[in-house]
Amino acid sequence: MQENVRPEKGIVVGAGIAGLGTAIALARQGVSVTVIDRDPPPGSDDPDRAFAEWPRRGVAQFRHSHVFLARLYVLLRDHYPELLATLLQMGARKLPFSASLPPQLLDGYDALAADDDFTLLSSRRVTLELAMRRFAAAQPGIEIVPDCRVQGLVLSPDSGIPEVSGVRIGEGEKQELRADFVIDASGRTSPFPDLLRKAGARIAEESAPAGIVYFTRHYRLRPGRSEPPRGGAPSVADLGYLKFGVFRADNGWFSVTLAVPEIEDGLRALVRKAAGFDAVCAQLPGVSPWTDRACAEPMGDVYAMGGLDSLWRHYMRGPRPVVRNFFAVGDAVIRSNPLYGRGCSAGFLQGHLLARVIAQTSDPLARAQAFYAAQMREIRPYYDIMVKQDAQAIRRAERARDPDYQPRFRARVARHIVEQAIGPASRADITVFRALMRGFHMLEEDPRAALRDPAIVSRILRIWARGPRRNRDLAERQAGPDRATLFARVALAGS
Ligand SMILES: Cc1cc2nc3c(=O)[nH]c(=O)nc-3n(C[C@H](O)[C@H](O)[C@H](O)COP(=O)(O)OP(=O)(O)OC[C@H]3O[C@@H](n4cnc5c(N)ncnc54)[C@H](O)[C@@H]3O)c2cc1C
Repeated sequence: MQENVRPEKGIVVGAGIAGLGTAIALARQGVSVTVIDRDPPPGSDDPDRAFAEWPRRGVAQFRHSHVFLARLYVLLRDHYPELLATLLQMGARKLPFSASLPPQLLDGYDALAADDDFTLLSSRRVTLELAMRRFAAAQPGIEIVPDCRVQGLVLSPDSGIPEVSGVRIGEGEKQELRADFVIDASGRTSPFPDLLRKAGARIAEESAPAGIVYFTRHYRLRPGRSEPPRGGAPSVADLGYLKFGVFRADNGWFSVTLAVPEIEDGLRALVRKAAGFDAVCAQLPGVSPWTDRACAEPMGDVYAMGGLDSLWRHYMRGPRPVVRNFFAVGDAVIRSNPLYGRGCSAGFLQGHLLARVIAQTSDPLARAQAFYAAQMREIRPYYDIMVKQDAQAIRRAERARDPDYQPRFRARVARHIVEQAIGPASRADITVFRALMRGFHMLEEDPRAALRDPAIVSRILRIWARGPRRNRDLAERQAGPDRATLFARVALAGS
């Protein structure tokens, strides 16, 4: 039963994906929300113009490739269908389950109604932001204040732990905005953890490097051209020394991202420039049909972004919150390697969970506890696995530079399981593929649910037992050259 008796007022700092998502979810619960953002508003509601012109200094990744996992799609479909409709109307596309099926499973694919749960949303990030912003601005109870940098918090003295009652947007009392609670959605550069620590909040923090640098270039299909057909070499793959992906987007746009290990200085310097980026794309058989000039024209230069990490901030210490009436959502509290494409789903999901908690109880302690528990339940298992996989990828990138490296027995077994059992089974058996996709899209609480399910494991073993010869057609397709070959072809020195 809802305990709240008077309508509350919240301040959300940051009008990015998590901030807008949180505001929309709170407005649903009858909370009035002021969303404050340091950046100017978009000058246009048109994705192409906003992409070209909107100065978005508050979001460093604004012009990098984004794709939105089914977790976000399902959240929108089930709880915010009008927002989903706005997004689609602005040009975003639903990529159905059939679009992610391995070619071997496409023949004879019988769609289930539940397969809609695996829909990816594809658009430029600008398009999602514009849709969310337009939708949020139209909701009663939401006010968006652009061009306004929050500089500090209004803290009540003498309450043991810091208690937040508003934000400061400048010096002096007149520059204070008061609210029942403040939500930090200010992203990767949030000033609040440091400010709160200075005020005595004991915020613990875990972080781990992603180990890669992101390089993105956008393209638009030429008039009359369509996207290259599926079924050829993979357009998304991990070569160990290089990860890459083609990101289908909206309104004829797509982008290519090359994620280069931090230690690959030469490759990084090469792809930072358009000519080097193109030269590498030309060597990737699943990418080159897209970037072929006859198919698409490049829309600007290469964007680069480093300093990528995973981060988890703990606003609880044991059972007690370290600050009252203050919550953090999105990248300001939890972030992960962008390669997994989970940040926007996780940010919007956190906003949705927080709004539910706020509607359920007005007790600040119970709110903090319930929100933390929800984050731990819904996101933590994925965070742990991503950090582990990043550490493995960093090691793999190091070994790729060593021509004499011989994997140890355990590593050979692990590779065998992936390459000879799980991989072929996911291409042969749609039940296995569906189960794995639930983890990929964050639709399970346990990302490893598929591999812990005896029925799925026995289906995988059945395919494995047929042996490599019978599974020949199920082997992963060659995604690109090995490191030495690529380096030779693009005239890069070996190490
Ligand atoms: C290179 C890259 C690629 C990515 N690709 C994907 C992807 O494919 N799919 C996916 O789901 N996720 C992806 N992510 C993650 C995703 O971009 C983030 O998780 C998501 O944007 C987080 O949303 P947020 O609202 O927390 O932060 P942001 O979207 O960064 O928004 C923060 C907002 O706070 C404002 N702000 C900051 N400081 C202040 C202040 N002091 N006062 C007022 N306003 C302030 C900023 O202007 C901004 O509007 C990617 C991330 C990176 C780095």
